[in-house]
Amino acid sequence: MIPVTSKLPQTGTTIFTVMSALAAETGAINLSQGFPDYDCPPELVDLVTRAMKDGFNQYAPMAGLMILREQISIKTEKLYGATYNPDTEITVTAGGTQAIFTAISAVIHPNDEVIIFEPAYDSYASAIKLMGGIVKSLELEPPDYRIPWDMVKRLITSKTRMIILNSPQNPTGSILSKTDIDELIAIVKGQDIFILSDEVYEHLVYDGQEHQSMARYPELRKRSFIAVSFGKLFHSTGWKIGYCLAPANLMQEFRKVHQFLVFSVNTPMQAAIAEYLKDENVYAGLPAFFQQKRDYFRNGLKNSRFKLLPCQGSYFQCVSYQDITDEKDADLAIRITREFGVASIPVSAFYSKATDHHILRFCFAKRQETLDKAVERLIKI
Ligand code: GLN
Repeated sequence: MIPVTSKLPQTGTTIFTVMSALAAETGAINLSQGFPDYDCPPELVDLVTRAMKDGFNQYAPMAGLMILREQISIKTEKLYGATYNPDTEITVTAGGTQAIFTAISAVIHPNDEVIIFEPAYDSYASAIKLMGGIVKSLELEPPDYRIPWDMVKRLITSKTRMIILNSPQNPTGSILSKTDIDELIAIVKGQDIFILSDEVYEHLVYDGQEHQSMARYPELRKRSFIAVSFGKLFHSTGWKIGYCLAPANLMQEFRKVHQFLVFSVNTPMQAAIAEYLKDENVYAGLPAFFQQKRDYFRNGLKNSRFKLLPCQGSYFQCVSYQDITDEKDADLAIRITREFGVASIPVSAFYSKATDHHILRFCFAKRQETLDKAVERLIKI
């Protein structure tokens, strides 16, 4: 055997893969990895077929089909009043995770410090470490997971190169408020700090609240890579298509990496999405659609021994099990999958120190029957 010096010695297989595999093996209802158990719109599938028949089968341009970038630009303008030039400021990616990885690789040098807020999506820290960067994580406290901006201020040094934000946040379902934005602006103003804003759940914001995209604020926008996902928008996570928005000088560096990471993203789906996006109703109804699911799931769990944490956005509901058992969340998630037939994600997986607040994450982007069945099992615990 040839010895390998791991570049990520502390990293195992991502928890989403582990729990989805366990759910499949045990036949449990899978509320772990975030994806819908219902299909994407049939019209969209027909548009892909049509695009393939119409000959959209060769490489797309490196940055994405122009017809799609134009639609993304229109959508961003409508939603956030921000104009992104399709030619120089928008790149179509193979999902949000690729946009995140590419942005980090494009600008993070060895020993650059990157601030992340934990619990955090597990790709951030590994991408930073692969680039030789230093992860500066700040742990947020349940149940509200607000960002303590005074502590962020204290974390900033001359080596701070990037702050990674994620609103709506995975796994906690918290969202950034206008006050958070004001604090952020005050902190980064005059500093050479980039922002990587993971906005893949941009449409999943509830109770009439507004998504605080970095695109809305010139002071933030000029330093931000914004990662967005079509998988969440069209209930098609398996298509692995998303995009990145960034000002031209940042996008130029982003594309230098993107071209050698994937070169370009599959063409027929880009053509189909470009056509489908022309009707803004395809995303206008998403908050109400998912809010109904959130409320339905929360309502069902009211009769359980789990304590519901707030959920203002995303398609995840976190619950505390402190009144049920002292078990580690990773052990309990496995036991509930095996013994009760419902798979979840232990929130400790989102902390570099595996901090365990005895909280599990459930994905409620599921059919009503699935949620009914899951709730029926969960209330027995
Ligand atoms: N973002 C999804 C989740 O949190 C998973 C994405 C993935 O598995 N790569 O469940």
